[in-house]
Amino acid sequence: MSDVPAELEGVLKRSETRPNGLHRQDMDKLRAAIVNSPLLADLITRAARNGSLIGIALSDNPNEAAHYGLRDRLIHLTERTLNDPQLSPQEQGDLLTVALGHETAHALRRKTSIDSVQRFSSEIEFRLQQGLGNESSLDLTAPTKSYLTEFRHGEALAELAGLNALASRVRVENDGHLDPNEFMQRAQPTTSCVLGDAAKN
Ligand SMILES: [Zn+2]
Repeated sequence: MSDVPAELEGVLKRSETRPNGLHRQDMDKLRAAIVNSPLLADLITRAARNGSLIGIALSDNPNEAAHYGLRDRLIHLTERTLNDPQLSPQEQGDLLTVALGHETAHALRRKTSIDSVQRFSSEIEFRLQQGLGNESSLDLTAPTKSYLTEFRHGEALAELAGLNALASRVRVENDGHLDPNEFMQRAQPTTSCVLGDAAKN
């Protein structure tokens, strides 16, 4: 695997050796998903280079596919994202690719997200202090709106990155060609952003 950049190799190594790291058979899936999507490999390498992603770990929250930890700088993957008995190997790889692309985009926006959370909490604190004794005039609409706008923007970018990572994988499998119908059919089960009806057209 000599063509894997050193930073990406470092992320993979830490994913296997951490206390809640991935099992060996999951590491093979992880490596395959990354290597088979050049765009995903590039995103993870960039996140590793800027220090916003240090590794990948198992998540203990079964109610999600994956999440990125702003504090620990890890992507947390659930067992279902790695080993869902109802999925074929191809579907499992697709799901893993989209989840990794999505969470890596969150990693790349780590600083923006932290700034946004800090700005939100200090504005709320300021307004609460101002409103002391006069709670009826307390209005948290503006800071809440700007926080939610930033949050949704980050989610939209992450969804795009996940789908682009999958498109990159489909393209590699088809010698550089991307069939829109095949792509939509494979994207549909991996994200709530792609509607079933659109996949049929
Ligand atoms: Zn997200």
